[in-house]
Amino acid sequence: MASDSQFSSLNLKPALLSNLSDLGYNTMTPIQAAALPAILQGSDVLGKAKTGSGKTATFGLGLLQRLEVERFRVQALVLCPTRELADQVAAELRKLARSIHNIKILTLCGGAAFGPQVGSLEHGAHIIVGTPGRVHDHLRKGNLQLGDLQTLVLDEADRMLDMGFAETLDAILDLAPKQRQTLLFSATYPEAIESMAKRVQHNPQVIEVEAVH
Ligand code: ADP
Ligand code: MG
Repeated sequence: MASDSQFSSLNLKPALLSNLSDLGYNTMTPIQAAALPAILQGSDVLGKAKTGSGKTATFGLGLLQRLEVERFRVQALVLCPTRELADQVAAELRKLARSIHNIKILTLCGGAAFGPQVGSLEHGAHIIVGTPGRVHDHLRKGNLQLGDLQTLVLDEADRMLDMGFAETLDAILDLAPKQRQTLLFSATYPEAIESMAKRVQHNPQVIEVEAVH
């Protein structure tokens, strides 16, 4: 029986649904239940939810549902404040994408050697997860192109602003197609996030959940 808070109530690709069930993800967390229907319809979403609320699968299932694996181009970019968070997000996305053959998820973070990242980019990727500084470096140098980008995710956006990434984010956004889905997640909702959302999103659905599942 598929109640509204079961993943099986969503119109996800069968491969994603069966993998979720293999992972033991049956019931959606509150942010997933509130945001996924809008994300799957293609809306921009501004999501506010605490740590541990399942935000990665919220945006991850949205971008995996939209992704065309046979088109070997960067279709999604997830920006995170730190290398540790980017690694966690990439690990969770790889778990969620286990049933999608040949999907390539690449991390691009500062603190890691530059050369091997250039080599990996030459081989191609569907999804990039990275920190703003390093992603911008690769864009400036022409190692990374965003012409085929469908989904841009700003994860822990408040922390990225606190860390002084505002200008770098603007520079990255200038190089992204205007026609895209932008998902912005933040644990807090200060003025700076509100004004950033106004600049980078189109009519976002604002979704705020208090409870951690
Ligand atoms: P956040 O980014 O909001 O801090 P995460 O996306 O890192 O949270 O998720 C926290 C943990 O919850 C992860 O270990 C993830 O695997 C797990 N998780 C997420 N959604 C579900 C779900 N619907 N059912 C079971 N576990 C889940
Ligand atoms: Mg997170």
